[in-house]
Amino acid sequence: EKLLQVKRLKKHFRLDKGKLLKAVDDISFDIYRGETFGLVGESGCGKSTTGRTIIGLYECTDGEVDYAGRNLHALSAKEQHAFHRKIQMIFQDPYASLNPRSTVKEIIAEPMESHQLYKDKKEQLEKVYQLLEDVGLNRDHANRYPHEFSGGQRQRIGIARALALDPEFIIADEPISALDVSVQAQIVNLLRKLQKEKGITFLFIAHDLSMVKHISNRIGVMYLGSIVELTESKELYKKPLHPYTQALLSAIPIPDPDVEDRRERIILKGEIPSPIDPPSGCVFRTRCPHAMDVCAEKKPSWKEVESSHFVACHLYDETIIKDHDEVAVTK
Ligand code: SF4
Ligand code: MG
Repeated sequence: EKLLQVKRLKKHFRLDKGKLLKAVDDISFDIYRGETFGLVGESGCGKSTTGRTIIGLYECTDGEVDYAGRNLHALSAKEQHAFHRKIQMIFQDPYASLNPRSTVKEIIAEPMESHQLYKDKKEQLEKVYQLLEDVGLNRDHANRYPHEFSGGQRQRIGIARALALDPEFIIADEPISALDVSVQAQIVNLLRKLQKEKGITFLFIAHDLSMVKHISNRIGVMYLGSIVELTESKELYKKPLHPYTQALLSAIPIPDPDVEDRRERIILKGEIPSPIDPPSGCVFRTRCPHAMDVCAEKKPSWKEVESSHFVACHLYDETIIKDHDEVAVTK
């Protein structure tokens, strides 16, 4: 069952002098109920903007987001309020997103208060205690302040707050990027446990492919406002098709120190171009080790190359590859 359908979504920001920043430029994907969908790409590729546009923090420029079959951006104010209970967000920096002057108890209870979930304060407090336990903390933590906790514990508080309204769907925007590597795995395990217990669907945003593997059922790889490849996690790690995915994967260290890393690291030349003035044709062509003439002229179309494995790259377009070979031969 498709819980979320993102259809040709665009988010463009208008800048000074009529310039346009195409942060998200025509992306489509579905998220099934109960799964974790990983969205991966370097900073500035538009993945956070995608999350924020889905949840309505940004108005979308074009396209549509359907949630359980309803167009989210066409709901009445009352429907939107009800819908906001179902979708929550977890942020990258657990410290910046927690009010330093509020106790843990107040932070977690805040969404319940704004939705007037409990008339009985005692009942509300019991729910806070329950949530603290759910995320691996305990009731003794309730009256303390965020600064008294480690980064990992603060992220647990942020997760407890996101769970306060019993959401169906959580957008986790780089929830582990700011944490020590040893703590990252704990938070990933916590999210997996919560998913199992509560059946929550996740959009998990990450800037590299090292941890998403352990949590995602499917992964979309984003580059400069576009999704360039999308498939099941296992398939993506086993058989990355897009040159950008191949480079991202080659950059992940092999976790076992006893295994010699014989893979060749693909170093991408140059920087990510500005989304204000993106390259013509394929957005990745200025850094792609396989770029051909056609890549500057034509935007690669979105193709299902193998079952449930989608990619946007001319290397997988048979007619173009044939022409390209012929050109190469006649030269
Ligand atoms: Fe590289 Fe061309 Fe494929 Fe883009 S379309 S990723 S430039 S080969
Ligand atoms: Mg971001």
